[in-house]
Amino acid sequence: MTERTNGGGHDVSAVPPASTRLFDVVRNGLSVIGPDRPRLYAAVALAVVVGAIETVLLCVVAAVAIAMSGERGTVRLGPESLDFHLNLMSACRFGLLLAALLMVLSWPLARLMASLSTRAMLRLRSRMLESYLGSSLEYRETQREGLLQQLVGEYALRAENSIQQLANAAVALAMLATLMAGALVSAPTAAVGMIAALLSCWAAFALVSRWLRQDTSAPVLTNREIVGRVAQAARMGEEISAYDLSGPVCRELEGDVRKSAEAMGRLRVEARLFPNIFQYGAIGLVLVLVTLLANVRPDELGGLAPLALLLLRSLGYVRQLQRSFHTAREMAPYIAAIETELTALDMHGHPAGGRTIEDIAAIAFHRVSYAYKPGMPALRDIEFTIGLGEAIGIVGPSGSGKSTLVGLLLRLRMPGAGSVMVDGIPLEQISARSWARLVGYVPQDSRLLYGTVADNIRLFRPGFDDAQVAGAARAAGLHEEIMALPQGYETKVGPGARGLSGGQTQRLSIARALIGTPRVLVMDEPTSALDAWSEQLIAEALAALKGRTTIVLVAHRPATVAMCDRVFEVRDGRLREFSRNDRLSHALAV
Ligand code: ADP
Repeated sequence: MTERTNGGGHDVSAVPPASTRLFDVVRNGLSVIGPDRPRLYAAVALAVVVGAIETVLLCVVAAVAIAMSGERGTVRLGPESLDFHLNLMSACRFGLLLAALLMVLSWPLARLMASLSTRAMLRLRSRMLESYLGSSLEYRETQREGLLQQLVGEYALRAENSIQQLANAAVALAMLATLMAGALVSAPTAAVGMIAALLSCWAAFALVSRWLRQDTSAPVLTNREIVGRVAQAARMGEEISAYDLSGPVCRELEGDVRKSAEAMGRLRVEARLFPNIFQYGAIGLVLVLVTLLANVRPDELGGLAPLALLLLRSLGYVRQLQRSFHTAREMAPYIAAIETELTALDMHGHPAGGRTIEDIAAIAFHRVSYAYKPGMPALRDIEFTIGLGEAIGIVGPSGSGKSTLVGLLLRLRMPGAGSVMVDGIPLEQISARSWARLVGYVPQDSRLLYGTVADNIRLFRPGFDDAQVAGAARAAGLHEEIMALPQGYETKVGPGARGLSGGQTQRLSIARALIGTPRVLVMDEPTSALDAWSEQLIAEALAALKGRTTIVLVAHRPATVAMCDRVFEVRDGRLREFSRNDRLSHALAV
């Protein structure tokens, strides 16, 4: 017997340390930008235009300043060889025009850049949701709690930030290059010297940065731990309060929070320190250069004023580049983690199945086995058939394998050995959608959405009208109680709104299943921990369905399955049918 297991557990330490090499950071960023690359190229092209206008504007400002400080009433623009002069007023007007043009162009540039990151986030978020919800239940069970929340919340935001920084870097680089080209035209020798000064500052920065480099994956890994613990604390909130455990829970969390903070702190120091050191270093080098130039090429000193302005402006872009690169490096592990998580989720996708069916007559289990862990089968050689319109009861002690059987029937788990056949077709070949349309499910612990009662019955299936909603509630024995609520079907219920009793929630879950007029209704312990009134209403609802809908009723107590045509018992992973005598003696014993 070959057993299939849900192995392949994916723990947080499996997130690989991300490469923080500039090339890899850029390549990963570009892959997230994906189909929006033309927008990035458009932003860079616009940045070159903006950079060129800015260069001219800075030269005008410098020339106006020189003209105002000297005796000449005219402003010389461009290199001396060009001999192009304007009067002061015209030069100022020209400058104003350029400034206005820059303001106008800032708008499309800002829009383009913002759209790059927000569109990337939108794509990532929907891909994350799709991949997570499309992954198999078996895989999701191996994950720490809070994975989806972390992906869609934290990781998607970090990726957005990273793309924003990458776009900023691309634009800053384009502007810097244009400014440098302008500087080269305006005073070639001095400009070459200044570019060399900037490059040596950059090289020094890169060296120190490599020396200080640390594993930027550390905060990602600890954050992953924190989210898992927080999700667990939220789920166990009631127990934590009842046992007064907030102290130990917080202390455990604090350990991870501190680790994460320390790792972040080191990155922050680097982010704060380097730009300042770089800026002061660059200005110092420029002053050294001016001194040298004064001795070697005194004729070029006149061109230094616009160059100084261009340089100061360039320093702003270099800082921007540095900041962007630093942030992109910091975010790189998140982008890598997103890829790792999404690839793993996609690899463990829930089998979609290709065949559509319109009805279900018989469901047959042929020697079905299932194991969660290798060598420890939860179900063994299950062999039984469910006929059209039959009511089947499945009983057994806790941990015997009943819920696992339900998972197989709902197509949420695939048999490790044997097969589940539906009218001769293996269940895994039937499309998940058509199976879900024909099979209704009432879980053990029904949950409410935050929304109206009607929303809760529809459960993201907008095709049902109000009459169908009320019909399903009536069939589940809940209509009268809903009508007694302040706004009837429009009353808000669920977490953060009005609660319903356990019995009402369970019956709402039955209405949820019945609204789709399922051919098969699977109920997992529908009356466990219910009040007698709700239990009676549910029994009535089931009696009304009997014969028309195939019912599979899983129960801990044999009394619950008294209405069933046939009853099976699961014990130690094996199934056997109860004879009438068995049922009678069992009922008496309980
Ligand atoms: P029942 O519904 O009858 O209480 P289950 O089908 O939930 O029983 O469980 C059957 C066996 O499989 C039990 O031994 C249980 O511990 C084990 N099991 C259930 N779910 C998992 C899981 N997600 N991972 C590993 N083992 C599981």
